[in-house]
Amino acid sequence: MAYSARALRQGRRVWSSPDVLPWQGWLERGLDRARAAGQEVPCRLRAAASWLLWRDAARTACAHTLLPDSLGAALRRASLLQDDWSLSPSSLTGEARALSAARAEVAEGCRERGVIDPVDWPRILPLMGPQSNTWLAGFGSLPPARAAALARVDVRVLNDPAEPRPAALWRKGCDDVPAELAAAARWARARLERRPSDRLLIVVPQLAQHRHRVLRACAESLDARAVLRSDTADGPLFALEGGEPLARHPLVAAALGALKVAAGLADFAALSAVLRSPYLRFGEDTSTVGAQLDAWLREQGVNEVTPAALRRLRPRVAHMRGERPARLVDTLLAGLSPGEAGASEWARRIVDLLRLRGWPGAGLGSAEQQVRARFDELLGELAALGAAPRLSFVDAVGLMSQLAAQVHFEPASGDVPVTVTDALDDPVVHYDGIWVAQLAAHSWPPPAAPDPFVPLAQQLAARIPQASASGQLALARQAMAAWQRCTSQQVVSWARAEDDVTDEPSGLLSGFAEAEADLMATESATDLAAWMFGRRARTEAFLDTRGPAWTAARLPGGTHALELISACAFRSFAELRLAAQALPEPQPGIDPRVRGILIHAALERFWRATPDWQALRARDETGTLREVSECVAAAAAAAVRESAEPPDARLWALEQQRAIGVMLRLLRSERDRDPFIVEAVEASRTLTLGGHSMRLTLDRVDRLDDGSRVIIDYKTGKAQPFDAYADRLPKPQLPAYALVAGGGISAVAMAFLGREMTRWRGLADRSGRLPGVPAPKATEPPWPKVLERWQQQLTALVGQFATGEARPDATDESCRRCHLHALCRIDELRLAVALETHEPEEQ
Ligand code: SF4
Repeated sequence: MAYSARALRQGRRVWSSPDVLPWQGWLERGLDRARAAGQEVPCRLRAAASWLLWRDAARTACAHTLLPDSLGAALRRASLLQDDWSLSPSSLTGEARALSAARAEVAEGCRERGVIDPVDWPRILPLMGPQSNTWLAGFGSLPPARAAALARVDVRVLNDPAEPRPAALWRKGCDDVPAELAAAARWARARLERRPSDRLLIVVPQLAQHRHRVLRACAESLDARAVLRSDTADGPLFALEGGEPLARHPLVAAALGALKVAAGLADFAALSAVLRSPYLRFGEDTSTVGAQLDAWLREQGVNEVTPAALRRLRPRVAHMRGERPARLVDTLLAGLSPGEAGASEWARRIVDLLRLRGWPGAGLGSAEQQVRARFDELLGELAALGAAPRLSFVDAVGLMSQLAAQVHFEPASGDVPVTVTDALDDPVVHYDGIWVAQLAAHSWPPPAAPDPFVPLAQQLAARIPQASASGQLALARQAMAAWQRCTSQQVVSWARAEDDVTDEPSGLLSGFAEAEADLMATESATDLAAWMFGRRARTEAFLDTRGPAWTAARLPGGTHALELISACAFRSFAELRLAAQALPEPQPGIDPRVRGILIHAALERFWRATPDWQALRARDETGTLREVSECVAAAAAAAVRESAEPPDARLWALEQQRAIGVMLRLLRSERDRDPFIVEAVEASRTLTLGGHSMRLTLDRVDRLDDGSRVIIDYKTGKAQPFDAYADRLPKPQLPAYALVAGGGISAVAMAFLGREMTRWRGLADRSGRLPGVPAPKATEPPWPKVLERWQQQLTALVGQFATGEARPDATDESCRRCHLHALCRIDELRLAVALETHEPEEQ
């Protein structure tokens, strides 16, 4: 279009439309045309095959490095640099030797296959023959070797293709990067409001890093309404060049996720994404079955999701969740074929595998169709690798994932008014306005960036501009001149702070005038929040802090309910009434819940076999160890029978060793206590408060010689303090245990079973009842009063819950450990309160 506009401006009525090709595309087409013309020209490598060749060369040449696979692209860039600047191979440094070795391996690979690498322009250009109809535009100053080779095939260079015009130059400093990107988007909006036919360019050098910020800023300023609707009838107003790695597009991520699950390369997070993906349909309407299976796996603490583990899990899924989720597990594993095969065979099998999993689903939009087509192309490139190399399924999926990660793709957007790019190259065509962001002193001109695989001295001697600060300065000046030549208005900007580091404008911006406010003044609100606020419905403030009353006699949730109510009224309402619990996150290793079950069950067995203090002391160390070990082994066997997936045998053995150690430490401290009889273990009791009842399980109740009782609650987590006198009881279960046990209670305590020692936390009528458990001090209420106060506090808590109270009334500490911020909106509430109570500073 730019070429046509230029022709029209020159008064031409008829002209041939040019083919506009990038450098690589031009080389590939030239090679294909030469072959089509009957010349003896080797086939060119497909992009995937070229990438694979360089990756394998990097594996050999850089075998001593940590991640040699990631160096393939860098070696290819360095090889191109050598060709562009006629640099002779060097063995001065280890990196230079690695480059020579990689080049040799790639050349040998090409020779063996009878192909040519599409980046190997020194071999390709002579094969293309004379190219007198070709013009090169927008390349800046060409490296000397490439310029000479192009001249030999009659390619002409179009210098300064845009017609220079005097440009208005403005500069704008912004508080931070988001503000800078928002300003650029507002400027584009203002320009389009005044002249809808404008074509604008926004240059963001670190676009990949700030891609989501740019998208948000442009969407909000240029098309706020599009954020709230799904149709794009008017077409997009902006496009980002370059695109994202194909693997990050949700459609492709779902396909790769399903393949990784089948190949055993997925972790739990990847399996969870597969089970919830809208692009995978496992043979029937499984949209909810997948989510339910995901939730169940989380509850069961299933962390290993290899095919073997899923196969083991299948009968339990069928038994506990029914046939539909079990069939879903079958589909996750369907179509697996062991053994090795060529890449072309794997490409075919991958297509079949994805079809079995219902990928890509139905009703794809235009952008998704394009992503799918690009993924199919990539599968075609995998197939083009042929029968060699021989790959296992894991290798094939790994290779496909790597290929998808290094291909960048953006669905086509047609001709859009605003283009966002990270390219610092000559824009070539004329834009009505160009905004260049991120021109702060520390980043513009960019610092010297010599190639790590070519000796620095060689790069400096050849005067490669990127290798030195002076060269980068020259390139920066050249880029600025090109931008100014290609527009009638240029705005440059910088952020005064980024990541808490303050910055200045680049010294190259001194010739620019400070931007005036009307440069970005738009006729209507530009940001989404303002747009939505302007269209808000008339609302009436209504304070609603109470839900329906709880009328059932039984309270839900046991002592955990008391803890929730005490911590926050809203949280208790949300979790106990609305079931808004956090999804469990399976962790590697032994699930903490299983750890707790093991210890509790082993201690229960031990105290059933050890009725009192005398029996405890009657055993010598060996006898105690034997008894504890037997109890732990029996409890472990029962825990395995109950769990969805047997724990890893080695870890489980270690966990049992740990449990034995923990129990021995507890028993050592119990031996030094006053005599006691174990009256009850894992005893179920009903506590009634304010007319409502709840079931409690007491880990242990001991009777002492004076007839009083102590209650012990085992804890396997980190030791926490117990404040018996707090207005909001942080551990209300201890007071609840004290109350439910009836009269004659002399102590209540938690025993934290730690790796080093047992720590006791609680309160007693006098010291010495339990190791380290204090009695009320002289200044504190005596024990009977404490029990009375606990009764009142717990009754009030239950009463509060029963009325349906749901105020978000937690402390900051409780909020830090809560998952409900988005539901209770405590942060907005606190902000509103802070704003209301904010006193303006005195002038
Ligand atoms: S975030 Fe804080 S206020 Fe909100 S529910 Fe959780 S604990 Fe309560």
